[in-house]
Amino acid sequence: MSKNRRVVVTGGAGFIGSHVADALLAAGYEVAIIDNLSSGRREHVNPQAQFYPVDIKSPEAYDVICQWQPGALIHHAAQMSVRLSVADPLFDARENILGSLNLFEAAAKATVKRIIFASTGGAMYGDEAPLPAREDDRAKPECPYGIAKLAVEHYLHFYQREYGIIPVCLRYANVYGPRQNGLGEAGVVAIFIEKFLADEQPIINGDGLQTRDFVYVGDVVAANLLALAYPQTGTFNIGTGQETDILTIYRQLQEITGSHRNPVHGPAKPGEQRRSALDSSLARRLLGWQPQISLAEGLSRTVRAFQALAAKAA
Ligand code: NAD
Repeated sequence: MSKNRRVVVTGGAGFIGSHVADALLAAGYEVAIIDNLSSGRREHVNPQAQFYPVDIKSPEAYDVICQWQPGALIHHAAQMSVRLSVADPLFDARENILGSLNLFEAAAKATVKRIIFASTGGAMYGDEAPLPAREDDRAKPECPYGIAKLAVEHYLHFYQREYGIIPVCLRYANVYGPRQNGLGEAGVVAIFIEKFLADEQPIINGDGLQTRDFVYVGDVVAANLLALAYPQTGTFNIGTGQETDILTIYRQLQEITGSHRNPVHGPAKPGEQRRSALDSSLARRLLGWQPQISLAEGLSRTVRAFQALAAKAA
């Protein structure tokens, strides 16, 4: 198969990366997955992909890219807990900065043509940015996780200047959907669904009026495929532009799951961002991307997937 049809996906056993790998394989790409299974799961790895259970920081990961000689690297592997990054910035930087650089060094050696990077919009702009935030609003990440993502975006521009690799940075909003776990930026969806299905009480942090921009994973996958075909470099917000508060998510999931449990509030998380939404008109204009799945539809699909999983486990 030609180099252009060969793609290495890091984090391909994780939530978003596994859906991206599935879509690439369905579109006829040859896919290698690098994932150390630290938060990903073996059963999410598509059996048609070549799987390398190695750490992105390791010489083995470097060698996979050199041997595979892919046309593109789609980089989703990361430690993606904002809270952990605050507690241990060194750990976060080792995973998210040094791990990325190990891959990019290999990509330069292997003359990879493009790198698609799973960046963040939710943790990029800070509380002072206008809403919805645009790509040219000042990036002012407040936690080490967001700082590392911004640093990697800058490093990618270095690799472009130095080696001609074309970077496309996708700044995701809060991604939710089947296979998600409770750790990520939209982790609240998974946490609430798991509690409702187990008939346990989900706890809302604070008043529940904090907002996020929830984007369905299928829409995020579509953005990755469009980015792969985009001939230039670019940094794009990938979100819906809609603010949804946590109380609304609670109520909708309560209704979909048929739970009788009404909202119970706990203490607010100190330092938590109050509001967030991303303007994705640049992605619409240049990539031809826009979200297709409404929140109601996306939440229903996600609940159905969690229910199917629970039924299988029972
Ligand atoms: P996830 O935890 O499900 O996936 C991350 C994957 O990377 C996991 O499979 C994990 O095992 C793997 N991994 C972690 N460290 C590794 C390492 N050192 N070596 C090899 N593999 C490693 O998370 P996700 O939600 O699918 O996130 C994917 C990417 O998207 C991340 O880069 C994340 O920062 C970014 N992102 C996610 C969201 C969201 O809402 N979920 C929002 C913005 C950005």
